[in-house]
Amino acid sequence: MLNADLHCHSNFSDGVLTPAEVARYAYEGGVKLWSLTDHDELGGQHAAHQAATALGMQYVHGVEISVTWSERTVHVVGLNINPDCVALVDGLAETRRGRVVRAQAMAAGLANVGIADAYEGALRYVSNPDLISRTHFARYLVAAGFAPSLPAVFKRYLTEGHPGFVPHCWAPLTDAVSWIKAAGGVAVIAHPGRYRYTPPEYERLFTTFKELGGMAIEVITGSHTPQQYKEYAQVARHYGFWASRGSDFHAPKESRTALGSLPALPADLTPVWQAWL
Ligand code: AMP
Ligand code: MN
Ligand code: MN
Ligand code: MN
Repeated sequence: MLNADLHCHSNFSDGVLTPAEVARYAYEGGVKLWSLTDHDELGGQHAAHQAATALGMQYVHGVEISVTWSERTVHVVGLNINPDCVALVDGLAETRRGRVVRAQAMAAGLANVGIADAYEGALRYVSNPDLISRTHFARYLVAAGFAPSLPAVFKRYLTEGHPGFVPHCWAPLTDAVSWIKAAGGVAVIAHPGRYRYTPPEYERLFTTFKELGGMAIEVITGSHTPQQYKEYAQVARHYGFWASRGSDFHAPKESRTALGSLPALPADLTPVWQAWL
């Protein structure tokens, strides 16, 4: 199988490396087809494409869009997009817009439990002021000694029901899929195993996504267990989705999975990249 890694982050969102540094990691991990998919942001695309080309890796432009669907956050990856598409560029700008106010509200929630100045603390980890995320708070809170690790800090402070969590309304699913289609790309449901919908909602997510023109789901991702590889391979077969593969790499020390190191897609599934290879 082609070693494709079609989901990862640079410091244009909540990764820590520059796009060129991520390209180097991908290359060293044996990746032959790569996509940088920053959250709600295309600022790293040009540098990623250039670095990939210089290393002899095939590149497709990518993005990971934050969506709210049925009261939960869902991530939709867009692959092989035109990064200059106005509908996509404008839609992402709108999606990013609420992040600063949300971050200030998160800091207020943390202040209530005795953690002062978390906004300023998180900002020290932000390199793109347009894209302050929970991950930046998490890095600060770990460094400041409030929790031993990123998963622990999310569990204690940054997830629903905890002091630094602020509900947020992201892009509608319909819009995210339509921006990706307008940009000539393929819409992919990211890490479906991470959403805790109950079965009828889950079926509705997949059928709605398909009706809107969504084509693929991630089957092999750094966010799935081996059991979930099987489960979502079944979902791909059932709904006729193409399958994607990506590490969701954010930082050398944080990521469970190195770029390019995940198992291959099950052989009977259609890889999402058959659409453009
Ligand atoms: P945001 O878009 O600001 O809500 O941040 C979402 C990001 O937080 C995700 O893309 C992950 O990188 C990170 N994240 C979410 N949950 C966890 C977790 N339990 N452990 C580590 N990172 C997480
Ligand atoms: Mn992230
Ligand atoms: Mn995600
Ligand atoms: Mn991601």
